[in-house]
Amino acid sequence: MQVQRIQEYTIFYVLRNYLSSVNKNIKSRLDTIQKEKGITVSDHEFRIIKDTYDFLLKDVDFNKIENDKFYLCKSIFSKIKDKHHDVKVMYNPPKPLHLDKESIMPTLDSTFKSREDFERYWGEFLQEFKISHKPEQMYYICNKYAYNLPAVNSPDCQISLFNVVKLTTALTICKLKGDKLMLIKGDISGIQDFIFSIPSKGAAKALKGRSFYITLLSDVICRFVLKELELDQCNLLYNGGGNFYILAPSNSCDMFKLNEIRKIISEKLLDFHKGKIYMAFGFYIFDEEQLDNIGEVWRKAGENVNQLKSRKWYEIGLKENYNKIFGPVESATAESGVCRICGASRMGIQDNRLLEDREICYLCNSFNELTDSLKKANYLIISEVEKRSDKVRDYIDLFASFGFKYQFADSKSKKTGTSFGLNPDENCYSYTINNTDFIEKDCNGFIFKSVRLPEGTFMDIVKNKYPDDISSSSIEENLKEINLGDNKLGVVKLDVDNLGKIFINGLGDENNIANIIDLSRALSLFFEGFIYKLMCLNKREKGIYLLYAGGDDTFFLGAYNQVFEFLNEIRRSFHEYACENLNVTFSAGTDVYPVKTPVAKFSSSIEGRLNKAKDNKDKNSICFMGEVFRWNEYEKIIQIKDICSRIVYLSDSRSVLNKVLNSTKGLKSVLVVSTEKESSHRILRKLKLHRLFYYLRELKNHKNPELNNLVEELVSVYENIVFENLFSKENQLAINPMIIPSAVRWAILNTRKERDESNE
Ligand SMILES: [Zn+2]
Repeated sequence: MQVQRIQEYTIFYVLRNYLSSVNKNIKSRLDTIQKEKGITVSDHEFRIIKDTYDFLLKDVDFNKIENDKFYLCKSIFSKIKDKHHDVKVMYNPPKPLHLDKESIMPTLDSTFKSREDFERYWGEFLQEFKISHKPEQMYYICNKYAYNLPAVNSPDCQISLFNVVKLTTALTICKLKGDKLMLIKGDISGIQDFIFSIPSKGAAKALKGRSFYITLLSDVICRFVLKELELDQCNLLYNGGGNFYILAPSNSCDMFKLNEIRKIISEKLLDFHKGKIYMAFGFYIFDEEQLDNIGEVWRKAGENVNQLKSRKWYEIGLKENYNKIFGPVESATAESGVCRICGASRMGIQDNRLLEDREICYLCNSFNELTDSLKKANYLIISEVEKRSDKVRDYIDLFASFGFKYQFADSKSKKTGTSFGLNPDENCYSYTINNTDFIEKDCNGFIFKSVRLPEGTFMDIVKNKYPDDISSSSIEENLKEINLGDNKLGVVKLDVDNLGKIFINGLGDENNIANIIDLSRALSLFFEGFIYKLMCLNKREKGIYLLYAGGDDTFFLGAYNQVFEFLNEIRRSFHEYACENLNVTFSAGTDVYPVKTPVAKFSSSIEGRLNKAKDNKDKNSICFMGEVFRWNEYEKIIQIKDICSRIVYLSDSRSVLNKVLNSTKGLKSVLVVSTEKESSHRILRKLKLHRLFYYLRELKNHKNPELNNLVEELVSVYENIVFENLFSKENQLAINPMIIPSAVRWAILNTRKERDESNE
């Protein structure tokens, strides 16, 4: 069985069914293309494709198919409900998939604007289809044009055309091999320590390479498993953030193979990472009927993975491999030399791990080279190579031992036109990065990944405190002109709230496999694709080092001011993207560090900040300057920060900021007490001490009317906070008064004269 052929035939089958009752002209174009390509299947294969398709669409009323309106699929985020929040019904936009705002944000329209729009859309769709001639291309074209259309043109159809293509293919391939199904979950552990256990010197170069390596490793392992089990890319339901899910058949032969594969992967990783990186490989066997309530299957596969993680390495025998896993501890002697990044010595299990004449090992060197190659990456080229395990010194050797080679290119080789200068005999696949116009580049498909990085060390990066392009009237522009602002490192880690719960039961009775993969797709699109794009759109590339964005968490660092502004931009975009659904939110931990802070230190401290934010009721919060805020409070912080910075700029005096800061000391405790028992009267008297007005009166009589207005504004923000809290009926603070000191601290950083920390 050739899985590629099944996939391509299924694509035609599913699209033809969609078009047959909608538009005869477009359908006949599709038929012509199919004839030209001459893709056929056996009667047996055809029956299974048809049965699978019918099974997936069993709830759809085919009598409701229309041909004068052209429907769009509901956004997956409109389907995530609970008792507490109303959910807006929104739809995927009538646009091919692109990484720009108007192509990814949901709309209120449930249909294409007109028949002409619809026909033009399909015209482009089929044009790319017609030109396609490489494996995988048709799959990616469907991904681009069919993610937003319902599988049949009816307002009730809840499953997208692309997902029906994907699932019909995946299930057909499984059923051709056996009756039962199996969900395989892979989970890489040890990532955090692996990425961050490095010294600060050279960290900017080392970090990205290490984190991107994990992404690639996960990709290599997925490809390896799919190839060994003879499955199609459609069987890969999700891959991101060190996790993947594969839908596989579960006959005895495949079970045997799976165990073999597990062993091979564990052995390779153990040899290579000496026990620091482990891949747990869990699975759960189930029936087709359970596809309609996949949350349970998802949970069981997850449980299996957790069990495996608690008894790591058992699949290859702990006893036999005790030394590899637990030691002996590498002791470096003076003459052996130690890698200054990872600490590996020449005396380790693998000989000769250090590059000649350099203080860095082959492996760390290969990660640094990976970082460099990402800086100009527009294409990823994956070739299938002969497996070899003779000399595994760097990650390229490791991948080769799985039979793959990964390369990045900035442009196509001029000489060879399309082949990237590679040997045309090699079985190679090329992908455009963050660009879905892959057909015109003659690539096999596209991927979304945050690749590019700002130039230089973290010290160089933190100097870019403001975006490249800011409006000339803004305070940032003023500060930028006179070069104010501290050279501090801002760090952010964010992750989606309750993601596990959302996957397992967030979709209620719509918890079927199609919705689950749509949810994965939608989250990846935002985190792996759009965040990176947003950073570029907002001209923040020079000041932000996007370490990783994918799966369910995102980590970035850089010039503190840009990092904190960008976080709010991400939050706003995500809110819009998720149909303003309050069941789908994220929380963030943030902090400011001196640039020379050890990487391992800030990575663990930021974890604590994130946990603090998540401890807030209903999560959906940010920990900023050590305090936890709601996102609307964070917006206020940004506003107050701008007012304060402008006051300093106009008055040419920073002392005012310290005065504001002093005026808020003790404010929170007074207000917290106010929610408890004291009478408002007594509290108001106490608060007189805190009257900001008193501190600011000198400024208020300033000749500059703008300054007077700003001071007025600040005073009124302050008073509002006091009154809202005093007269709040809740037993808790209506608004966290700490927004003022936090905003002031930010403004203090922004108005500080630049100091060169590198000389400290
Ligand atoms: Zn090393």
